[in-house]
Amino acid sequence: MNLLIVEDEPNVVSVISRGLTEEGFEVSIAPDGLIGKQMALSNDFSLIILDIMLPGINGLELCKIIKEQKPNTPVIMLTALGTTENVVTGLDNGADDYLIKPFKFAELFARIRTLLRRYSGAAVSDQIIQIADLKINVSAKTVQRNNTDITLTATEYRLLEFMAKNKSKILSRIDILESVWDIDFNLGTNVVDVYVNYLRKKIDKNYEPKLIRTAVGLGYVLKEQ
Ligand code: CA
Repeated sequence: MNLLIVEDEPNVVSVISRGLTEEGFEVSIAPDGLIGKQMALSNDFSLIILDIMLPGINGLELCKIIKEQKPNTPVIMLTALGTTENVVTGLDNGADDYLIKPFKFAELFARIRTLLRRYSGAAVSDQIIQIADLKINVSAKTVQRNNTDITLTATEYRLLEFMAKNKSKILSRIDILESVWDIDFNLGTNVVDVYVNYLRKKIDKNYEPKLIRTAVGLGYVLKEQ
């Protein structure tokens, strides 16, 4: 999904674009209103983040133009503190939501998800990995077995997600160590055995079928049968 950021403040652009890239979005950037207009109208973006105070064309005018020509593109306006009139005008001009600067990326991301869901149905629905009755919600990083919530530590979760994404593949201790732990962190591979045991206690001990198997001499595998 490609998102457009129309914003002239490099710091804001850098925070938003880094966050969105990490979340798996493609990000296009327009540093002023004129470039923003040209990019917004000549492409189909999944969502546009629009600053109000912009060189060229201001965000309020630009929002109106975008919404006239691309009514199905959601727009979030960014505004500086204390300019409530701007916010009202932005919403009058068709903006779907707004955020007041300074804001936390998490807050912006939550608004983006909500809007994308509203506009495109299941396009950004939560990603679930299911193996037998084990359910891993990769978006929320939550785990259930037999519909019971299981609390994992961050490391246990990373280990489980890595094994689940490589379902039915035998993973060597080195594969696991390099993917789940920082490679520069100098640990022996027995840390893998220790954590696989922690994970077994939480996701397998009280449930059937057992999902984590030992491949003797090779490593571990997560699979149904
Ligand atoms: Ca600005």
